[in-house]
Amino acid sequence: MQITVLAGGVGGARFLQGLRAAFPDDQITVIGNTADDIWLHGLKVCPDLDTIMYTLGGGIDTARGWGRDQETYSVLEELGIYGVPPLWFTLGDRDIATHLVRTQMLAAGFGLDVVTEALCKRWNPGVHLLPMTNERVETHVVVDLPEGRSAIHFQQWWVQMQAGIPAREFRYVGIDEAAPAPGVLEAIAGADVVVLPPSNPVVSIGPIVTVPGIREALTRTPAPVVGVSGIVGGRPLKGMADKCLATIGVPATAAGVAGHYGPRADGGLLDAWVHESGDEPPAGFPKSLATATIMTDQQAAANLAEQTVRFVL
Ligand code: GDP
Ligand code: CA
Repeated sequence: MQITVLAGGVGGARFLQGLRAAFPDDQITVIGNTADDIWLHGLKVCPDLDTIMYTLGGGIDTARGWGRDQETYSVLEELGIYGVPPLWFTLGDRDIATHLVRTQMLAAGFGLDVVTEALCKRWNPGVHLLPMTNERVETHVVVDLPEGRSAIHFQQWWVQMQAGIPAREFRYVGIDEAAPAPGVLEAIAGADVVVLPPSNPVVSIGPIVTVPGIREALTRTPAPVVGVSGIVGGRPLKGMADKCLATIGVPATAAGVAGHYGPRADGGLLDAWVHESGDEPPAGFPKSLATATIMTDQQAAANLAEQTVRFVL
């Protein structure tokens, strides 16, 4: 079976860990969000691809859910002593090695898809990890700063400001000129099932489905497309997805997010929706499943992934 998953970082990676455990003999292709990518100190950083690669490859800091395990911060400390900003984005020494390899390969002319494949040779994530696009796309956030309205990089809003000021608008800069990375459309068209895991609907799934051609591929694939809610009891389980949803006028509820994606029969993205037991089922969906969606450990993630796939097959 071919299972294709559109994923952001932490929520996507934890779901994928469960999916790989539940379907060890099946081919899993991941279309990863690259709109969180940022250039820092001359290095190309791809936080969501790395979170997936490290999580599935056994190199993640499990307590945080992102970054390398047993990490040290000598380089960042030295940059601080030089007084060279930005210093708000946590770049660990081990993590920097990944960004050095990536940046050198990009400079040598390889596409991000090829670079990601090369990095995955070391990590053996057990899934085929593809960037959504090889082109540069960055989510920028329109905010009101003391000096006036400005568009800042998503990471500056999310990491440095901790989403502490309202986002007026999200812009996926560069997306109109972007094309799906090689293999992305084929992975959707040739899937037996497509999953939107509990990744941030606005800044993780949003950019992926806005890359020209991807939404059309999803609406056309013969495979069922199923989404899993990252909102439980009216709150994101981790992170600040509620603040992103407020910006686009979507209620921070499981049913609100389902409605935002929409049923495929009405021109939306999904055939089915999985949400936490006790949360309101979505309106207008042919299929929905109420179950335990909190991935407290790998077994819970595997149970969720198995139910998600089985109920649409
Ligand atoms: P990011 O790129 O690291 O922000 O990660 P994602 O976009 O992949 O996922 C973030 C979303 O995952 C958040 O909205 C969380 O609510 C959701 N999430 C995290 N852990 C869980 C969990 O155990 N269960 C569910 N259902 N959602 C989760
Ligand atoms: Ca992310």
